[in-house]
Amino acid sequence: MSNKAKIILSVFGVVISLALLVVSSILAEETVISPTSATLLSTISVIPVFAAISFAAKVDYETGVYECRKCGNIFKPTFKAYFWGAHTLTTRHLKCPKCEEKSWCKRTIPNA
Ligand SMILES: [Zn+2]
Repeated sequence: MSNKAKIILSVFGVVISLALLVVSSILAEETVISPTSATLLSTISVIPVFAAISFAAKVDYETGVYECRKCGNIFKPTFKAYFWGAHTLTTRHLKCPKCEEKSWCKRTIPNA
């Protein structure tokens, strides 16, 4: 599977699972179903949300490489650095393994 397909799939998973959560909370609010099944349903629908978000985070980590602002080196951070690094949607504050400078590295997607 290509990286782009994986990213699309992970975003899709998050959207679907969130939609499921919203539908189940509406059903619970409107008391269409009994309170017991409402509680059960909302508990169950939280699981796919967590699964989808973890999958999206995993795909995001696996498919992302970062470009150093200082020397232009393209590298893949360790999971620890990735997890704890401050970030925006397109950049992450990481230490470059080549020049050892910390900078806001730009995220790029390799085509492999
Ligand atoms: Zn660098």
